[in-house]
Amino acid sequence: MENNNLKNNNEKPDNNKNNKKLNIIILITVLVMFLMLISITAMQELANSKIQITYDEFVEFVNDGSVSEVTLSGSVADIKFGPEDGVTLTKKVGETEIEFRNQKEATVNLVGNENALLELLQGKDIRLEKVTPSALGSILSSILSIVLPLVIFIIFLNMVMKRQGSGLMGMKGKAKSYVQKDTGVCFDDVAGEDEAKESLQEIVEFLHNPERFSRIGAKLPKGALLVGPPGTGKTLLAKAVAGEAKVPFFSLSGSEFVEMFVGVGASRVRELFDEAKKQAPCIVFIDEIDAIGRTRDSRSGGNDEREQTLNQLLAEMDGFDSSKAILILAATNRPEILDPALLRPGRFDRRVVVDRPDLKGREAILKVHAEKVLIDETVDFKEIALATSGVTGSDLANMINEAAILAVKYGRNAVSQKDLFEAVEVVLVGKEKKDRILSKEEREIVSYHEVGHALISALDKDAEPVQKITIIPRTLGALGYVMQVPEEEKYLNTRSELNSMLVGYLGGRAAEEIVFGNVTTGAANDIEKATKLCRAMITQYGMSEKFGLMGLESRENEYLDRRTMMMCGDETASEVDREVMKMLHEAYEKAKSMLTENRDVLDKIARFLIEKETITGKEFMDLFHNAIAEREQETCPSVSTMN
Ligand code: ADP
Repeated sequence: MENNNLKNNNEKPDNNKNNKKLNIIILITVLVMFLMLISITAMQELANSKIQITYDEFVEFVNDGSVSEVTLSGSVADIKFGPEDGVTLTKKVGETEIEFRNQKEATVNLVGNENALLELLQGKDIRLEKVTPSALGSILSSILSIVLPLVIFIIFLNMVMKRQGSGLMGMKGKAKSYVQKDTGVCFDDVAGEDEAKESLQEIVEFLHNPERFSRIGAKLPKGALLVGPPGTGKTLLAKAVAGEAKVPFFSLSGSEFVEMFVGVGASRVRELFDEAKKQAPCIVFIDEIDAIGRTRDSRSGGNDEREQTLNQLLAEMDGFDSSKAILILAATNRPEILDPALLRPGRFDRRVVVDRPDLKGREAILKVHAEKVLIDETVDFKEIALATSGVTGSDLANMINEAAILAVKYGRNAVSQKDLFEAVEVVLVGKEKKDRILSKEEREIVSYHEVGHALISALDKDAEPVQKITIIPRTLGALGYVMQVPEEEKYLNTRSELNSMLVGYLGGRAAEEIVFGNVTTGAANDIEKATKLCRAMITQYGMSEKFGLMGLESRENEYLDRRTMMMCGDETASEVDREVMKMLHEAYEKAKSMLTENRDVLDKIARFLIEKETITGKEFMDLFHNAIAEREQETCPSVSTMN
């Protein structure tokens, strides 16, 4: 059962956020400084400013004897007025005239009237002074008022950019900082990916002993693309190749190439390859290559920086000859969006699939990671592997670590099977949320809901056995859940198994309706899963009578969220919707009738669960069998005969 009010409370301090804040603060500081400088200069100018008068006004003032001193600098003259209380100047601003009284100084532009000035002043009691404007002074003042703020601004901008890894003056690549002389990882550290390891084994031999291959003219593949879901060990595998071949390992993430400035990524690629060539034989690993290797098209508006980086990468891959023994490994979980130019032979000509591990793989991965912790004799890795179908290597590594932490918490000296099972739950559904206290009524609803799911699976022979039922809320949002573990790993599901699954998903909601005559929001996740399954049965698996074998949907990305895309007309799509509704309705009715027929069993187990909060699969099955046996006894009591 799902808690719909779950909020994502990620309150961890986030480095990125801090960086952003700092950048914003720096930018604001720079802007404020810039504005201050501008306003100071403006104020200075204002303070120094003298009212400018026209030449005609100047002539008038000269003639009426108001001017006492003229200082000529170039074609601008500074005027000092004689009268003690100054003169009154008028200025026209737009339509209005403003009077400036008691003005002692003014300036006048003499352009074109320089020669007439001497004539004008002749014979008058006016002191004339000529000064040469200082070139240095004007240069200095322009530096101070324009260049200095600009320089300060550029320095700060550069600092901000550097924080983001792309300083204006430090745009060069940083390949050197990503090289590892010895990764310390070998193929034995990568478990359960035998096929992937096999295809990389010969590359290792080539790097180890290039002459052996080049003697008969064989060329080392230039690149191999590791494709698979996140956390399946692609990076680990690339490191293992370098570790086995005992060559340096350069690693960079695709997103690190793409920067704000066009050309930075390309220069980083160049730098990386220059460095790699110096250290050949070596391995260059580019994680998330889809960040730069996305198909170049004009649809998405193009991205000059990314395209330039990709072009540079393609050019570099063509540029070095394979005898140099540089191998480029790249990882992606979206191979379908890569540019075809990257995938052609001579570039990433090998594709190594690193998929989610199967049962054996999961067991092997658990064992590899368990070597690093102390385990006791109760541990059965196969059982854990069975309970973790569909998880990735990184989840399993995480589970072992969680189990070790739990063992310490419980004061044990070694990890036990119980810790491991608890760790599986922690990774899959989150930790127990002890502080969330459900009301009595809510506990009843959750209990009936979960037992509804479990009872359907117990009644149906096609369903997976129940391992555990609990009504303790979990941090990832579940208010309770049923853990089902298959007896063996399945690669195929029959139609009847899928139908049972569908009825099982809706069993929780059916129990709520039967028992309480009302329904809650807790079935949202069940409904989503049931609808997805129904749709897949109709559109992908050809399991509906109406559409038969017609393929109506295709998978968009195999390794990420496995989103699908409809491949039919609108009318067919709405028919599919109707068919989904019909199937869901039928499954729901079936769930309701199964639970109604077994209402007594449902009540008994639900009551027990409310009391205990968590019951094991064995307890559940015992209760189930007892309740069925009791009912049979009640309906046909054994006849005792007396002779
Ligand atoms: P990817 O690059 O595919 O996203 P990683 O290589 O970064 O995944 O794997 C993350 C971690 O998960 C590894 O460091 C390792 O501890 C663990 N892991 C994943 N797959 C395996 C595996 N097949 N064997 C052992 N450990 C694994």
